[in-house]
Amino acid sequence: MTETPLPTPTESAIALAAALKQFAAADRVLLALDFDGTLAPFVDKPKSARALPESKAALEKLERTPDTWVAYVSGRPLSSLEIVTEADEDALLIGSHGVEVRFGRDGVSLDLSDEERSTLTRLGEVLQQLVDSVPGTRLEVKPVGFGVHYRLLEETDGADVVRRAYEAAATVSDSLTIRDGKDIIEFSVRGADKGDGIERLREYTAANAVLFAGDDVTDEDGFRVLRVESGDIGIKVGDGETLAQFRLADEKAVAAMLTLLAEARASRA
Ligand SMILES: [Mg+2]
Repeated sequence: MTETPLPTPTESAIALAAALKQFAAADRVLLALDFDGTLAPFVDKPKSARALPESKAALEKLERTPDTWVAYVSGRPLSSLEIVTEADEDALLIGSHGVEVRFGRDGVSLDLSDEERSTLTRLGEVLQQLVDSVPGTRLEVKPVGFGVHYRLLEETDGADVVRRAYEAAATVSDSLTIRDGKDIIEFSVRGADKGDGIERLREYTAANAVLFAGDDVTDEDGFRVLRVESGDIGIKVGDGETLAQFRLADEKAVAAMLTLLAEARASRA
């Protein structure tokens, strides 16, 4: 373990360094990481997002280390997550907030019932109508739902779009999973969340300790399933209320943390 302190000034930097040291010494560890806003800075074209080079190097080092798993847990559809993470065929990927799962060569799991399919079709129709009527909004098609993007709108117009999207979706079904994210409101016919994704990863990898980092409100579902008493670590990236134990300022601070952890994990006794 290097004695270099985490370069980002946070109130809990020393406590985080101590927790990471303990984490790095565990038998089998899993790093489950959100992508956008955690590893990769936000960009205008979602497909152009890439992890910071320092993070990518640290994750590649961790992936080469025995008994160490790296997984990406994102709200992006799996097909998009595969591109931006530049994932190889062994990658562990959770897309669509836990709905889509790809565990290396074991394949993808996603099976919709007939009822879910028909709800999905109608949901797409009503939300497309809404987006068509409001310039500056955009509909994103997701495997089991839709996201209405409104980043280009003024705050009050954005709030109005969210309200109308709720109303439109309610005409289709009263049992949709709704996620209010950063300038996006999402409606899904399947109710998995990032916490479900992390639990599946924990089971699949048989990890003794899990580290999860994320920046958005939907990442709170991930922090909720962590077992802090068993050495799990939750890291909230950026501002906002959180269940996570630790906070890092931004993607650069995450890169520094991963670099430190990769070194500690590779050199453990
Ligand atoms: Mg994010």
